[in-house]
Amino acid sequence: MTCHDLKHLLPPYQSGELPPAQQEFLSLHLSGCATCRAALADLSLTQRQLESLRGDPWQPQLTGRIAAALKRRQKTRTLGHWLGAGLKAGGVAAIAAALVLALLLALPGDLLLRPAAPPVGSRVLVLAGDTLVDVDTAAGRVAGTAPVGGQAALVTGAGKNWLLSGSTLYELGPAPDEVRQVAAGLTGRLLGASPDGRTLWLLRDEGPDAFAIDAVDTATGTVTRDTEPKPGTAGRATVTPDGRSLLVLARVTDLTFLKVIDSNSRTRVEAHPLLTFAPDDTPLAAPDGQTVWVAGPGRLARVQVGSTGAPAYTPVPGLTPAAALSPDGRQLAAVTDAGGLLLADLPSGQTRTIQPAGRYQHVLWDASGDWFYAAAPGQLDVIPARGRTASHTTVVLPSGPVRTINAR
Ligand SMILES: [Zn+2]
Repeated sequence: MTCHDLKHLLPPYQSGELPPAQQEFLSLHLSGCATCRAALADLSLTQRQLESLRGDPWQPQLTGRIAAALKRRQKTRTLGHWLGAGLKAGGVAAIAAALVLALLLALPGDLLLRPAAPPVGSRVLVLAGDTLVDVDTAAGRVAGTAPVGGQAALVTGAGKNWLLSGSTLYELGPAPDEVRQVAAGLTGRLLGASPDGRTLWLLRDEGPDAFAIDAVDTATGTVTRDTEPKPGTAGRATVTPDGRSLLVLARVTDLTFLKVIDSNSRTRVEAHPLLTFAPDDTPLAAPDGQTVWVAGPGRLARVQVGSTGAPAYTPVPGLTPAAALSPDGRQLAAVTDAGGLLLADLPSGQTRTIQPAGRYQHVLWDASGDWFYAAAPGQLDVIPARGRTASHTTVVLPSGPVRTINAR
């Protein structure tokens, strides 16, 4: 039996429901396997957090999908006793949920404040289809293009961009034609860059149920391999703005966790279970280094790093994982399930939507926070964060789905 086979036995093991022989077999395996021990620790945390939901003010919003997720776990004996009581909070719950929805839908009319436009020289890089596109956003035109592989990925840090195309890593300098090969023969996908641009992190699968995070020194191209694989199937990942934590959404048994990993040691420090969320949802790190938003279909979760409390869940009708957080962490811009845009003011919960001509796939905030970029196939729009749709600029892109937009 492999660890992969054993992971399905961990929940019944945890609640003592396995036949004695299997229980003993698993105890033995756990005593010698750090990966399975870590997976079991994650499960125990989930259980504690599920239990804490009983007194959570956000609990009334545990509608539909979350209730279903809770029911799936009802089998475990230890959860059974409180679950019935927890889900009975009927009438008050419905009213509270309706209130939150009303708040989210109450649009502030037109928040027309000051218009903003990118200053001269502003650039972004876009991966559109198999083309890397250098866009002069102030002039509203494409400044240059280069062919790249379909698997290429782009990250940014310290005013530089790194492109991983195939297994080769390139550094793209501030000048459009400044390209330097950093390293070759790399495996994994780009997770992100440190704010000083000295380190890049690569997310590497270790079998079907574990992942590792390798570090690349961008000056020398030296790769430091992670020798402590973490349990779970890794999905989307990002770096906190201070560069101290790596945030990875990972599936362990049938639950998605937000893993908060110290970027220096790369040993696992925290795992927060996210009921009904999936590894391909989007973790968004706020500048305070503490708050992490996770955008999923129709809902948003807020995780406090360093807290063992359950995440707060908020329904946001129309929200998709194609979302970005403003640099001050107060606003969310996201593609809606209809292909339009949704802007949410996170402190107040107020949202407004923008209907574009095309169907957007990606959004990126400018570092100023005054405007953001939204891309649809063949089109990049520069949109003032507080203005009207009518004032946006459209740049025509080469055809193909847009996979990334990066500041340059
Ligand atoms: Zn194992």
